Amino acid sequence: MRFDIITIFPDFFDGPFRYGVLSRAANAGIVDIALHDLRAFTHDRHKTVDDRPFGGGEGMVLKAEPLFDAVESLGVAAKAVRDPAKETVILLSAQGQRFTQTVAHDLAQVERVVLICGRYEGVDERVNDLLADRELSIGDYVLSGGELGAAVIVDAVTRLLPGVLGNADSARFESFGRTDSSLAARQQAASDESLEATTLPRSTHGAGGLLDYPHYTRPADFRGVPVPDVLAGGDHAAIRKWRRERALEKTLRNRPDLLTDADLTDDDRRFLSRLRK
Ligand code: SAM
Repeated sequence: MRFDIITIFPDFFDGPFRYGVLSRAANAGIVDIALHDLRAFTHDRHKTVDDRPFGGGEGMVLKAEPLFDAVESLGVAAKAVRDPAKETVILLSAQGQRFTQTVAHDLAQVERVVLICGRYEGVDERVNDLLADRELSIGDYVLSGGELGAAVIVDAVTRLLPGVLGNADSARFESFGRTDSSLAARQQAASDESLEATTLPRSTHGAGGLLDYPHYTRPADFRGVPVPDVLAGGDHAAIRKWRRERALEKTLRNRPDLLTDADLTDDDRRFLSRLRK
């Protein structure tokens, strides 16, 4: 998969892509991240990328021309004929649709993603109208530029690509995880005794749109707080039940909005209603 990032600060990305999963994915050739300096697509002595806003008001606006030249230099198809399953152009924007794990999964299917990083007061709206397929926001706050958002998207998408995480299950059984999590699949799995006996205990065979359950490692007792007994007991069914209940508990406490769309069994619902009481 290839990412093209258009930015006025290409050096900004020296750090985020040099470590851990992202650096390994790049070294393994699974992901190719190309940085493009927007100023290289200007045609004046001062390499001007911004100008004053029409209608007045504070700040400066990133000009359309260098952004169009930058994207067009990449050989990406024009918006009207672009196949979004193959390539897509995204404008980072506080006004965009929210970037979520679902969007990350969708983008992980695309061969090439172009990310345009705004700065100043934002980007000439013609970029949105004529060049970008969508605007994405990484959260309800205003950043100084799109670079952090681009790094977030590259990270979240890259770790979903096949072969990037050592254990593919890491991406399936974590917060917001959806894969293999349909209610039917989980109920089938729960009633399949041979599966129960042979698989490692997981929260619920997929997080089902919930937050992840709590994790512990050694030492078994840290500053007087012991690891819950059930995790050391070796009873896989009990561990699975404990993890599922803790995931429900944490989701109810921190992100009750996620429960609306989560895959919940009757047991889950009963447990939640006891918690609410
Ligand atoms: N005037 C804009 C507004 O009120 O929506 C804010 C512009 S912001 C200072 C400059 C650039 O940072 C934006 O063009 C965008 O690329 C990026 N940016 C800011 N907040 C963002 C967010 N929550 N998600 C993604 N990009 C963001």
